[in-house]
Formats: sequence, structure tokens, C-alpha cells
Amino acid sequence: MLKLKRVSARYDMLGSYVQAVDRVDFEVRKNEIFGIAGESGCGKSTLLKVMYDLVKYPLEISSGSVEIHTERKDGSPVVYRNGEIHKSWWKVISYVPQGAMHVMNPVARVKGQFFDAIGSYHDKKSKKQLQEEIVRYLQELELPAEVLDAYPHQLSGGMKQRVLIALATFLHPDIILADEPTTALDVIVQRGILTMLSRVQKKMKNSMVIVSHDMGVHYQITNRMGIMYAGQLIEVGPTEQIFENPQHPYTRMLINALPKVGDNSQREGIPGTPPSLKNPPGGCRFAARCPLAMDLCRAKEPAETRVGEDHFASCHLLEDDYSIRGGDSVAR
Ligand code: SF4
Repeated sequence: MLKLKRVSARYDMLGSYVQAVDRVDFEVRKNEIFGIAGESGCGKSTLLKVMYDLVKYPLEISSGSVEIHTERKDGSPVVYRNGEIHKSWWKVISYVPQGAMHVMNPVARVKGQFFDAIGSYHDKKSKKQLQEEIVRYLQELELPAEVLDAYPHQLSGGMKQRVLIALATFLHPDIILADEPTTALDVIVQRGILTMLSRVQKKMKNSMVIVSHDMGVHYQITNRMGIMYAGQLIEVGPTEQIFENPQHPYTRMLINALPKVGDNSQREGIPGTPPSLKNPPGGCRFAARCPLAMDLCRAKEPAETRVGEDHFASCHLLEDDYSIRGGDSVAR
């Protein structure tokens, strides 16, 4: 459905580059919710922009490709590649941006925002017919029709987020991308938004990509997930396996930092900060923070290793030749 082949993307900082995404390789399958997790600044949101073809200066794709494989109405196959994916916005791929509070036009009623965004796809219908369809869709999503007459400032943060999800999914796209859909919302509203996204996906049986720094969000809603660190994807696999049996030291630390019901002990944070993406270190980028780092880690980048059914991670400790060596070069 959506394939990323060794994609690298960077910001041109007038003479230097910030390599926000570095050789990222994965695919999002039909009828699944794929999560992308990691600390702030690890490149998650840039990756989502690259998938959506929202690549404008100073952002550029420096290598690799993004492809959407789908079908036309008549069933014939069609492929959209980066640089042309924007031609399929709304109908094939759509995007729920971060910060519902700020992305809506503050001086236009919600109705106007629907007409502006999707009116051109329904040019054979009158405004009245289109509005009736929008009302029916809002009702399916359990949203009151009255929101159409409201201005964004008259809606709560949660309602704005729901409206954005309704707008992004109205044309039943094959792929929906959502950037931090629950940020800045209280826990009850967060749960409502996640339930709404999950219901939409189950009904449309399409593919959804959710970017969130909140591991709890991934646990609740995603089927598979990838963990990003310093612009690279360092572990990818089924969400259940990642939570039950995380393989990369960084993933383990992210999961150990989560609060657990009935466990009042102090949670351990991850010491240190991620490296600068302007001049990232050689070898494993996590080495400066990894309690298991060895000399090899600072000298050589780890390769991706298969660690289970559909589960991959990049760490020297998981590589076959490391187990053959017996780990004798460990310098903890
Ligand atoms: Fe830690 Fe080395 Fe594995 Fe990197 S490669 S995560 S530094 S053990």
C-alpha cells in the first residue's frame, strides 16, 4: 500500500543540512494501523510530511523513494511516487496535522472549510446535496451537525480534532496519516479520539499511520509500529511483540519509562539527550546513552537484524556474527 525505500530527507540550513530522516525503510500494509514512536525531534513528523509529499524548501528528499500502490475505480493498478503523491491528496491519502487548535482557518465556519477542501471532488453535486452528505457523515461519526455552522474558536480542542478527522476521512482515502492526534488533550478526550480513529479504520479497512511520542497511544491503537531514534528506524514489528519483547535497548528503555498499574516504584527516564542531526555521530547513534554500548558500537553502524516473526531491530548485540564472537568485545 505505502512503501518507503531507504528514504532520507534533510533541511537545508543555508550551507549545512539537518538530516532529519536517514535511510528509513518500511511499508504500511492494507487494513492496519501503523505507529511511529520516538522522542521529540527524532524525525517522526518530518517522515510523515515526506509520506504525504508535503516536501517544501527547506525540506528535501535527498535519496530513496515513497510509493503508494493502489487501484483506480475500474480496478486497474496505479502507483503514486514522491513528487506526485500530492495529486492524490484527500482521495487516496489524507493527513490530520498536528495541533488542531491552529490549523483551521479562524475566520471561516467549519462548513466553509469542508467545501474548500473537498468541494472540487463533488463538482457535479449542488452545495445542498454536498452539505447533506457531510451531515450524514458527521452523524456516522457521532458528531452534531451544528458544528458545521461554528467557527473554530467556538469548538473545544477535542471537537476541533474530531472535525479535522472527519474532514480528512470524508472521501474514504486509502491511507490516513495522523500527526500526534492526541497531543494537548486530556485523557478522556484522548480516549475518544483514539476510539474514533480506530472505528474509522475498521469501517473503511484502509491503512492508517499514527505518529505519537506517547507509547500508550501505540499500545492502545496500533497493529504494528516502528521506533525512531535520531532520524533512523531502529526497531519495527507487531505492537504486541514490541511491548512484550522489545529487542533494541532504546525501545526497552522507552517501555520501562512507562507507568505501570499497581507499581509505585520510580520509573526510570532515559539519561542524556539525542545527538544533533546536523552532525550525527558515526556508529550506533544511541551509543552515548546506551548502557550496553561497546567499542564496536561507536565504530560501526549496526545492521538491521530479524529478531522474530515480522520483527526487526538494529543493534550489534542482535547480530549473528556478534553471538558467534561470544560478545567478548563488550566494554560496559
Ligand atoms: Fe547499544 Fe551498541 Fe546496540 Fe547501539 S548497537 S543500541 S550502542 S548495544
